[in-house]
Amino acid sequence: MLQKVEGIVLRASSYGESNKIVTIFSRELGKRAAMARGAKKPTSRLASITQPFTYGYFLIQQGRGMGTLQQGEIIDSMRSIREDIFTTAYASFIMELVDKLIDDEAPKPHLFEILQQALHAISEEYDPEAISLFVEWKLLPTAGIYPTLHQCTNCGAIDGEFAFSFSQIGFLCHRCFSIDPYIIRLSPSQVKLIRTFYTVPIDQVGKLTLKKETKSFIKKIVRTIYSEQVGIRLKSQHFLDQMEKTPEFFPPKQVDPSPEEE
Ligand SMILES: [Zn+2]
Repeated sequence: MLQKVEGIVLRASSYGESNKIVTIFSRELGKRAAMARGAKKPTSRLASITQPFTYGYFLIQQGRGMGTLQQGEIIDSMRSIREDIFTTAYASFIMELVDKLIDDEAPKPHLFEILQQALHAISEEYDPEAISLFVEWKLLPTAGIYPTLHQCTNCGAIDGEFAFSFSQIGFLCHRCFSIDPYIIRLSPSQVKLIRTFYTVPIDQVGKLTLKKETKSFIKKIVRTIYSEQVGIRLKSQHFLDQMEKTPEFFPPKQVDPSPEEE
């Protein structure tokens, strides 16, 4: 059976002299691996369509076992992501997270939408660090975590001061601070920002620019949830951490002097 899907190349690995095995996350079928015969040869018509981050239409011949990629048509090559070490690192991190969280063969159109929007935003030169944070917050439900961020997890109050509680996985109001000794106090703007990360679609955030410290703070919370509640740590995170610690070793393609928030 021949199937045409809209998808994004999550991974590609060599297979033999000239073939590649590509893992495609598609809107219609979820994650699928397919053999791309001859795709390692630069002259192959499958060479460019099988590069990681590529967004396009894929024609897959399904038989028993692994399908065969017959043809592809690029919608967006995402080439600008691959040209810069920072954007490549953040986009790889996002792809690895999506890859870890999805099961084979189950369609996840909502997740596909998030990934597609995130890669598009990075290729349009949005801050890749902020975009990866958006993805991390938005994928929490996919990982089985449903943080309570619209009210106090304990009493339901929507007014007052708030803090983040890892034991409650969500906000606690000042009246309920005592139920968790390890709360992280939040300013009203941090409360608003966390809600934005969790609920606002990526294509609606505009060119937001966030301070380094703001991103680090919000990141610490979401990474703690992933490592403690979900139990995943990604390979690409190590490189990303290194890059964020010593950015001078990784010169960016260009410096964008955008204004800071607040
Ligand atoms: Zn409360």
